[in-house]
Amino acid sequence: MFERAVLHLDLDAFFVSVELLRQPELRGKPVIVGGLSDRAVVSSCSYEARKFGVRSAMPVKAALRLCPEAVVLRGDMSAYGQHSRIVTRIIADAAPLFEKASIDEFYVDLSGMDKYFGCWKWSQALRQRIMKETGLPLTMALSVNKTVSKIGAGEAKPNGELLIPAGTERAFLAPLAVGKMPSIGRETQRKLALMGIHTLGQLAEAPAAMLEREFGKHGSYMIKKARGEDDSAVSPYREQKSISTERTFHADIGEIRQLRDRLTDLVTRLAFELRQDRKHTACVAVKIRYPDFSTFSKQRKVPLTARDSTLMEAAQELFGELYDHRRPLRLMGVRFSDLSDGQAQAELFAENARETQLLQQLDHIRKKFGESAVVRGVNARKKKKD
Ligand SMILES: [Mg+2]
Repeated sequence: MFERAVLHLDLDAFFVSVELLRQPELRGKPVIVGGLSDRAVVSSCSYEARKFGVRSAMPVKAALRLCPEAVVLRGDMSAYGQHSRIVTRIIADAAPLFEKASIDEFYVDLSGMDKYFGCWKWSQALRQRIMKETGLPLTMALSVNKTVSKIGAGEAKPNGELLIPAGTERAFLAPLAVGKMPSIGRETQRKLALMGIHTLGQLAEAPAAMLEREFGKHGSYMIKKARGEDDSAVSPYREQKSISTERTFHADIGEIRQLRDRLTDLVTRLAFELRQDRKHTACVAVKIRYPDFSTFSKQRKVPLTARDSTLMEAAQELFGELYDHRRPLRLMGVRFSDLSDGQAQAELFAENARETQLLQQLDHIRKKFGESAVVRGVNARKKKKD
């Protein structure tokens, strides 16, 4: 019987996977997200690129030497943040207790849930639901603790699932290289190799005194972990008090109509996200940045709402007050804060039943075909370039 059950969920090549949703024509190609400057490093790469030896954190220049045909994308953190929040919402909806460890990694504490295989079935259903609702590939592993599940997910990647039954942790870890342990970096690996320790199995059996001489307390900690022991808790996720999105333009924009179109686009996307989170906002803020990096923002209280039209009106007014028409912009952003749960949703929306109905239809299409499927009003004139 299980004392604990901890599920680890890790989205595969997350930034690249989001890009593939937006540009399906890149599927099957080596794709790198990382930027084009001299010092840019790879922040995410497709499995096709990995076949050439491309890895995260490697300079983009070096990656292109290994794989000259790779498509390099600059990356769009606000889009990744939005997709991450959608995944978070699905997990929050289903899971009793979960931790968001990073933009693309989660732990769910399933301790006490039925029996082990009940947990496994539940986990499989959650994974399927996330993949179905987001279109993003995802790997998971279930075991008695965070460390073993994280390493397990690493072994099951990409797009895999792995169950490590209670009592088999140590046997599972034993053949793996010490570098698979998240807390063991290059330098530690090198020192362990000098002691003749290459696998987690060897580390699990190493004398504590020898390791403590070299690494202090961390030495015995590593041995414990290599044995598959880890009692660290899944720390509960705290919900955000605001959501935001921003966009740096490819080239600075000075044309007012174009800027207002961009703002409409940002507000539309963020309002969609707000409704997906079943939230309402009481405060809208707009941020702008000029080419010299001087940045200005302004916010305004609004009656609690999730309606596009109210939010758009506030954002456009704030923009009008902020923007100095003689200068181009390099960046624009929108934030909704003072969020609260959408309890009296029907009541709030009753003020404009037709718009509510339209929004529901548009949101349905967005959920089905992706956020870019619906481009409303003014910004439908022009296809987005950035
Ligand atoms: Mg990942």
